[in-house]
Order: sequence, then C-alpha cells, then structure tokens
Amino acid sequence: MKTIHHWIDGSPTTGTGSATATVFNPATGAEQARVLLGDSSTVDTAVTAAARAFEAWSESSLTQRTQVMFALRQLLVEHEEELARIISAEHGKTVDDARGEIVRGREVVEFACGLGDVLKGSYSDQVSRGVDVHNFRQPLGVVAGITPFNFPAMVPLWMHPIAIATGNAFILKPSERDPSAANFVARLYEKAGLPDGVFNVVHGGKDAVDAILAHPGIEAVSFVGSTPIAKYVHEQATAHGKRVQALGGAKNHAIVLPDADLEFAANHLTAGAYGSAGERCMAVSVAVAVGGAADGLVEVLARKAREITVGPGDRPGTDMGPLITRAAQQRVENAVAIAAAQGATVVVDGRGLKLDDPAQADGFFTGPSLLDHVTTAMDAYQEELFGPVLAILRVDSLDEAIAVVNANPYGNGTALFTGSGEAARRFQRRIKVGMIGINVPVPVPMSYYSFGGWKDSLIGDHPIHGPEGIRFYTRPKVVTTRWPRAAQQITAGFDFPTFD
Ligand code: NAD
Repeated sequence: MKTIHHWIDGSPTTGTGSATATVFNPATGAEQARVLLGDSSTVDTAVTAAARAFEAWSESSLTQRTQVMFALRQLLVEHEEELARIISAEHGKTVDDARGEIVRGREVVEFACGLGDVLKGSYSDQVSRGVDVHNFRQPLGVVAGITPFNFPAMVPLWMHPIAIATGNAFILKPSERDPSAANFVARLYEKAGLPDGVFNVVHGGKDAVDAILAHPGIEAVSFVGSTPIAKYVHEQATAHGKRVQALGGAKNHAIVLPDADLEFAANHLTAGAYGSAGERCMAVSVAVAVGGAADGLVEVLARKAREITVGPGDRPGTDMGPLITRAAQQRVENAVAIAAAQGATVVVDGRGLKLDDPAQADGFFTGPSLLDHVTTAMDAYQEELFGPVLAILRVDSLDEAIAVVNANPYGNGTALFTGSGEAARRFQRRIKVGMIGINVPVPVPMSYYSFGGWKDSLIGDHPIHGPEGIRFYTRPKVVTTRWPRAAQQITAGFDFPTFD
C-alpha cells in the first residue's frame, strides 16, 4: 500500500506522528493509499523550515519571485493531464472536470505573474514643502492554508501563488481524503526553482489543523471548507492573534423567470447541479422557479438528469463520477428519502444506482436526483447536501424569489435566468450573495477579481485571491520623507505635526 508523505523543506518526510488515514478510490471503494497524519511536532518542523526559508525568500527580488510563477505556470500546462488523473483517482471527478479545476487554479498563478503591477505602491510628491509620502506592502512571514477535498488543486492554488509571490513562506494542510495533488504541486514548485522550505505540505486532520491554529510562528491562516469548521478556524486563529480568511459552505440558488429560455436554463442548471456530482461550493442546489416557469422547467430538467452518464471519472463519456466517501453517498441518499417523507416529489431518483461494470460495484456512486415541490421548511432545503440533488422551489414572483434567497443563511453564489435587463438589475442590486451570475449558473470570478460569499459562506471579512489576496498576505507601510538641505532652517514644533 502506497504511503503519502509530508513535504517539508524540499523533501518528502514521515514527520513525527504515527497515525495514518485511508485514501480510497471512490469509483471502486478500494483502499489505494495511506496518508500520514501530521501532529503538532510535524507542524512545528514545517514552521521552522518555512521561517528559515522566509528570511531569504522575502529578500529576493520581485523579478525572481515572478520568474518562479512563470515557470510554475508552464509546468502546470505541461503536467495538466498527469495532475488531472491524480485528482480524478482520489476525488472521483471526471478527468476533464479535474482539468477544468487546474485551468481555473492556474489563472491565479497567471495573476501572480503580473504581481509587479498589482503590488505597486503610491507616491505623493511635495505634500508639504520638501516632504513626500509613499507606501509599499511587505509579506507577513509564515502563512498556512487549510483546504477541502472538493478542489484538491484549485483551492490551494487560490492561496499559495499569491502568498509566495508576495514573499511569504507557505504551509499547506490539504484534505486527507485526496492528498496527492498537493505533493505533486510541491514537486512542480521545486522544478520551477522555488527554494526549499518556501512551500511545504503537512498532511493531517484535526490535530494538524489545531497545531497550525495555535502555532505562534504562523502569521495568517487561509481556510476553505464547511461552515462549522470555518467558524472554528476563524475563532481559534483570531484568538491566537492571526489574520484569518475563512470561506464556508453554500446553498446556491438559481432563479428562473418565465421569460427565460427554458431549454438553455435547464441545460446550464443540469451542469451546475450535477457536475462534479454536486460536490462544488458553487454547485446549484436549489432552482427557484417563478410563476409559469415551473412545470416546463421540471420537465426539461428531468429529461436531462436521466440522460447523465454516471461512471468512473477516468472513463471517456462519463458525465458524473462517484461521491468522495461511502458516508457522503449514504448522507445524500438519506436526504432524498427524508425529502420524500416530508412531502417533496422525487421526480428523478438517484438512489440505489447500480453500474454495469462489476469493478464499480462497491464504488460510492449515487445517481442524479431531482426533487420538486420542496419548501424552505424541509431538511433537503436547509442542509448543504453536497451531492447530485437539485431541489425545485416554486414561488410567484421575482421579489418573492429574492426574499427566499436572502433569508437563507448561506450567500456564496446565485444566478438568475431571464431575458429581462430590468429584472437582472433588480436582482443583482437586492440579492444578499457575494457572487452573482446572470444567465451564468456557476459564476466563479476570474482570478483578478476576488472570490468570496456573504453570510455563513464567508466568516470574517477576507475574500480570497485577486486584489483581496494581495491585501491578505501583505501589510502596508507608509513612509513620510524629508531631506532638508544643510542650510535650510526648519523648526521642530511640539504640536502634533501638520503639513502645510
Ligand atoms: P471540511 O470542512 O470537512 O474540511 C476542510 C478542511 O478542514 C480539511 O482540510 C479538513 O481536514 C479540516 N477539518 C475537518 N474537520 C475538522 C475539525 N473538526 N477540526 C479542524 N479541522 C478540520 O470540508 P470538506 O468536506 O473537505 O469540503 C466540503 C466543504 O467545503 C463544503 O461545505 C463546501 O461548500 C466547502 N467549500 C467551500 C468553498 C468556498 O469557496 N466557499 C470552496 C470549496 C469547498
């Protein structure tokens, strides 16, 4: 059985803990590797290496740092297929879907390649006679990222390229369910010329996370995962004096107005709901059908859901792979049963799916489910199911739909399908959600914007990557300068300094 090691100071290492966790192949249900679970001493070793590396790395030039990013970008292009297969084998998503996450993660590296422009400070000449003011930003030191299973390459890539390009040293604690992508990226950094110790990977679960949150040598923590853990991480890390960005879970609604092209909307909702088996933080899990849109929409959605090909992620032609664990599969199938018991109509039932190939008999598969006549009181509406289940809620007007979305505790992504510019404008101004799509179901912003939801989807006040990423991983200095000529008479008063 393969053992997945930590990556500290430029080498694979076993660390000090003896605990391990199983990494499954979700398409067969078989154990395929054991990943080491780091303890506080392993985290401490990584912090020591990172702190040492930070001394030199933070003194390297902007040109040197962006050269590493250009090289990393090229390596991510060259190794896209290999990395996509590593992701698919542990996560279960299709290889093409995994390629998509690599491309979206690579965008952040591209943003970091242009750091020279976005990191520029400003300069005010002659604010007083002979006095100028300028500002610049400096890295924090050792920073850490704690990431979820559902995007084992992209979500860490939201963090480390910006942290590293701005001069920090980084410790990644990836999900223990699909840990191999992190080690692969560590080797790409090495090939890209990044000095040892600037990028480190400590695998693990709660013990490793707790050690990161409490370690005095870590200045900032980036977290992406479920809301309860995001709240915990935010609370613990801020209590230990750290800067924290903590992105949580989601329940994303798409509103469909009667003037929308239903075939177009259903196509995009199907991809948005069932792509990656619904295990995306921006997956559409609720379609809010307004007025006359409902019956036609449900009919087309049901047809499209039944056409989805479920299978192993590495088989050509598969649209949707398995869920990440047996527990996730059971949780999703239970949720469909509870929804039916609470009065929802199960239009398409993905439970108990059997695939033809006996190799997949024990895989963590469930088929797409479509639930109609769901109400906001039902569990299937209130919980983040994180699986291939689309719930239809029926309302009478756009204003009612907006009120439903705004009353939901989550606020990650949302979309409106309509042909009306007026409706779209009203929607985007009134909706209490951070990322909005107009006829776009999964509105993940480009890397030069920042990614972040509202309400329980983002704890604290720091969205991720883009300009917010630069701000998060650096702190500003403002310098007020005077170079008096030797003969110049300048009096120093005792009053609070003003400039005239
Ligand atoms: P998770 O919260 O279970 O795990 C996230 C990370 O926290 C992992 O590294 C895990 O090891 C660690 N962790 C888990 N339990 C912990 C505990 N008790 N104490 C300390 N650390 C712990 O999330 P997941 O199941 O890996 O990922 C799915 C979740 O992530 C969903 O809720 C999804 O919406 C969310 N997500 C959000 C975004 C976003 O941008 N808002 C993006 C991707 C995923």
